[in-house]
Amino acid sequence: MITFEEARKIVLDSVPTLDIVEKPILDALGSIAAENAVSTEQIPPFDNSAMDGYAVRAEDTRGSAGEKSVELRVLMDLPAGRHTDRSVGRGEAIRIMTGAPMPPGADAVVQVELTEKVSDNCVRILEPHDKGDNIRFAGEDIAVGQDVIRTGEEITPAKIGLLASIGRPRIKVIRRPVVAILATGDELLEAGEPLAPGKIRSSNSYTMISQTRMCGAEPLYLGIARDTIDDVRSHLQKGLSADVIVSSAGVSVGDYDFVKTSLEELGVRFMFTRVAIRPGMPTVFGLLRGKPVFGLPGNPVSSMVIFEQFVRPALLMMMGKRRLFRPEVDAILEEDIKKKPERAHLLRAAVRKEGSEYYVTTTGPQGSGILLSMDLANGLILFPRGETLRKKGERVKVQLINMPEVE
Ligand code: AMP
Ligand code: MG
Repeated sequence: MITFEEARKIVLDSVPTLDIVEKPILDALGSIAAENAVSTEQIPPFDNSAMDGYAVRAEDTRGSAGEKSVELRVLMDLPAGRHTDRSVGRGEAIRIMTGAPMPPGADAVVQVELTEKVSDNCVRILEPHDKGDNIRFAGEDIAVGQDVIRTGEEITPAKIGLLASIGRPRIKVIRRPVVAILATGDELLEAGEPLAPGKIRSSNSYTMISQTRMCGAEPLYLGIARDTIDDVRSHLQKGLSADVIVSSAGVSVGDYDFVKTSLEELGVRFMFTRVAIRPGMPTVFGLLRGKPVFGLPGNPVSSMVIFEQFVRPALLMMMGKRRLFRPEVDAILEEDIKKKPERAHLLRAAVRKEGSEYYVTTTGPQGSGILLSMDLANGLILFPRGETLRKKGERVKVQLINMPEVE
């Protein structure tokens, strides 16, 4: 049986990076840019006021300090969105709002808090100012010819703002994968259906769709296939247009486990069908004419953990991302852990940080049907293959899968 690390390498060596599409910038959040976006304009486009106040000639404010103050004649009001050709001469000022263009002749802005209104057309300046005070200069944010985004960078809210400000409504990015998702099992019902004898509600389809969305990829739900080769095959056929196929259950060695046979009949070339890992030993991975196909185990925890370990990095890689894995930290164990050495274990765990140290405990019973333990977990302890005991106080590697924001 291949190891966890070998299996992950096989997956990542086999998945393609998807092609490039042009998208409206608002649809590009989280995607990887496939072009440089170069500004053809300077931002801000003109010198403008950083404050509500008075546009003045700095030299006119020199004499104002403490008892002494200077009075200037106010020529007009200049709100944001307007401009004026009227020049500020000696002894004059224009009342200006934040974002309004600097009028000719003025070389500083006095903020309103440092003035006193004498009358509608006279203002008293209480402090001397220097040239350039409270002015935002043309091009100080972005120069002409500057890249606001480069090929390979991830598109963040700030980058979308930059693209908008340089007048770019569209951007070329690497396409998001469409992920066909199939649940299999005679026992399965949808979330809204009442229970019946022998039946359970499918949770895997719901977790897989949600995990797909969390990666920034697009789920295509194929529904629930019953445990026959024909039904699994006909459901899978609806997913052949997708970039990735992910099915759940029916991959172990039970009499009703038809997924592998159905995938084989569709033409999937298997790269592995078992991995030395717990949970998730019966994980299947293959390629269907270059398209990645994952058969995840049916137990709800196995399905989620295996999606996290194999499908998530594959989807991120297809989207052109460079950071594929969750952060790992060394954490101090707060309990003894004993395991059999044949497989690597990924143990659901609660991690907390105290000072500069991380501490970790398991979330209790690790049965792979106990989905609540996944909800309680914000980390997975990586218990290596070949080892049998880690004692309280020792350090273990923990993958942070869902660390809360700092309070
Ligand atoms: P299997 O791999 O088909 O033997 O399924 C293993 C276990 O996972 C069984 O207890 C199934 O009932 C359960 N299971 C399979 N599919 C799902 C699903 N979509 N949601 C929740 N549990 C499932
Ligand atoms: Mg089954």
